[in-house]
Amino acid sequence: MYSIEQRDEQLANTTADIVYELGFDRAPQHLVSVRMRISRVAGSELTLVMPSWSPGSYKIRDYAGWQGNVRCYSVNGSQRAERQYSWRDKASMVIDTGGADTIEVEYLVYAHERTVRTSHVNRFHAFLMLTSICMYVEGRTQEIHHVVLTHDQQRWTSTSTALSAVQAPSQGRMILGALNYDILADSPIEIGDHRVTTFSAAGALHEVALPTNYDLDIDWLTERVKRIVEVETTLFGGKAPYDRYVFIIQAYPGAGGGLEHARSSVNAVDPSALLDKSKAIGLLSLLCHEYFHLWNVKRIRPVELGPFDYTRETYTPMLWLAEGLTSYYDNLLAYRCGFTTQKEYVESISRDDIAKLDDVKGRFAMSTRDSSTLAWLKLYLQSPDGSNRFPSYYLKGGIIMMLLDVYIIDHTDGKYSLDDAMKAMWRRYLEDPAKGMTESECIAIIEQATKVQVRERLMSWLGGTTELPYDEIFQAVGYSVKRSPKKIEAGTFGEKVPAAAVAPTPYIGWSLADVSGKIIVRSVDDGSPAQLAGVGIDDEIVAINGIRILTPAQADHVLGGRIGKEATLTGHCDGRVYTTSITAAERIVPALVEIDKPSARQVEMRNRWLQRTL
Ligand SMILES: [Zn+2]
Repeated sequence: MYSIEQRDEQLANTTADIVYELGFDRAPQHLVSVRMRISRVAGSELTLVMPSWSPGSYKIRDYAGWQGNVRCYSVNGSQRAERQYSWRDKASMVIDTGGADTIEVEYLVYAHERTVRTSHVNRFHAFLMLTSICMYVEGRTQEIHHVVLTHDQQRWTSTSTALSAVQAPSQGRMILGALNYDILADSPIEIGDHRVTTFSAAGALHEVALPTNYDLDIDWLTERVKRIVEVETTLFGGKAPYDRYVFIIQAYPGAGGGLEHARSSVNAVDPSALLDKSKAIGLLSLLCHEYFHLWNVKRIRPVELGPFDYTRETYTPMLWLAEGLTSYYDNLLAYRCGFTTQKEYVESISRDDIAKLDDVKGRFAMSTRDSSTLAWLKLYLQSPDGSNRFPSYYLKGGIIMMLLDVYIIDHTDGKYSLDDAMKAMWRRYLEDPAKGMTESECIAIIEQATKVQVRERLMSWLGGTTELPYDEIFQAVGYSVKRSPKKIEAGTFGEKVPAAAVAPTPYIGWSLADVSGKIIVRSVDDGSPAQLAGVGIDDEIVAINGIRILTPAQADHVLGGRIGKEATLTGHCDGRVYTTSITAAERIVPALVEIDKPSARQVEMRNRWLQRTL
């Protein structure tokens, strides 16, 4: 039976017949050495499988590709004999056991990809995503699994993971355990000299681990994390559904992204996120997002997302629930935590949601549900023209969930909101944790909890490719979406002498990059001036109106002064130079703005929508 629930006390002093001993002697070369010991082997063959992907990150990564030097042995008392094995396919190998009771398998894993979803090991630390390190034994994933860490505990003083201690560390060995392979796969480990803080909240212990080379304020961060825990657990009844939870926050230049787990999350940020308020809100929203996933996606989940087949793609049209709804809640929860003002939150809806989706021409080409099913090929294997081919289920799914929330509030005079649907889905999880929800069941729960018929509307938004009805929905809370030209304000000399005329911002519909001094087109929006001019991806922009273009900003500048007027563009494609004419348009940006003289009801519904709950 599928279960991802584990309490630390359940693993204390346990024994395991599947044990991985991990060594770090080769850490400077980014190698982890694995010795896997399997006891109580029955039969003449034993099949081991290396996962091809990690739940939560919908991409085939074929982790066996990073594995090598595999050797198998049978063990009989002190006797150890090498055994033959053969690969069955790209992920699984079959060992000829020779009837032995115990088999040991040794191999190396190259771990040198620094993301929240891949292992990363060097002389200073190890971040282990166990899906890429630990093969599973076919047919035995439901047993207790142990991981023995053999690192130098004087040098790497901290170990942060949701795996449970089996016994106190001793003699260079630290033994951790999981009740089954799914929990093991869901529990990354950070080992190094990082700082850790702890706090209690919502009846559980929390750890904040901060691996970074930078001198960042972990106490400031811990205070904010505690606030997030309090606000989010309140939404789900006040008590944390775990005994211990670990926030791993990796801060290094250029970092980004997060990955959710049942009792932990991994969050990667640029160190500037802890030094600059405008960037800190991005980190806090990320923390809200990944933490919210412990309910929505790890427990409340589409039926396809657990139990998992680690060898192949898992298709679901419901990432609008898993990621869309979580994306809607992340900024909303950051606001509820008090990290943003109401004004800042509404501005973020304009800037980070509606304006971003306006730029995605792919919203007319594919539905949100299809974008979810094809996440493996679309979001995670983005083609350069991907923005024209599909909308992200994070972005559009999140906006649809926002519209749904306002719709529910409006149609119940503020009695119910999406919070009530979430609480009902949580009760449904507690009744039957082993099984996720079908899409139809999920919508039925939303309808039951809120007493609003949403099925037809919601399915048309999720399955459609037309514009979302912003004004129709937002009028209930006294807002409308206003689109107007974006102006460049040049400011003033002194108090009131204009520094320059207020100019419109041009819209060309391309993105440009400086590649070794050449200005190269990276993307072209469908229907944009750039497309109408016949410019393509990977073309070089040589000159505009005879002016040599040397930086991306210069191209915008030259065209920006000529909005609505034709210009001559000299481009280069595949070794040949061409000329074409291009006419920049005005950039139009949407904003969610208050309507004139909102009624008392509209203000009341808005206050209901944006009320802080704690
Ligand atoms: Zn997410």
